[in-house]
Amino acid sequence: MDSKSTASNQQNDSENPFAIKKWKAVGLWSWDVAYNDDCPICKVSLVNRCLGCQGNAVSECVVVWGECNHVFHNCCISVWVAKTSKSSCPVCQQSWSILRTAV
Ligand SMILES: [Zn+2]
Ligand SMILES: [Zn+2]
Ligand SMILES: [Zn+2]
Repeated sequence: MDSKSTASNQQNDSENPFAIKKWKAVGLWSWDVAYNDDCPICKVSLVNRCLGCQGNAVSECVVVWGECNHVFHNCCISVWVAKTSKSSCPVCQQSWSILRTAV
């Protein structure tokens, strides 16, 4: 009897750190969603290299977040910005500025 109640206490204890881990996973969720999107310019998933970088093992294909919360391959958005000569987001037309980058 005694050993049984001790075992159930231990089970409750080990559930607490698990709950904290779950919280962290929720915090990462929005990042995951953005990362699973396709690049609006080349239509290749952002977890993969962009069209121009596929088959080019040397170059680094970085993913960039804009202040408007749209995400692109850095290659694609920099070509777009150079082509349009005004830095605006191709999706929402807001002025484009990079919030952060990730490999
Ligand atoms: Zn792209
Ligand atoms: Zn690229
Ligand atoms: Zn945008």
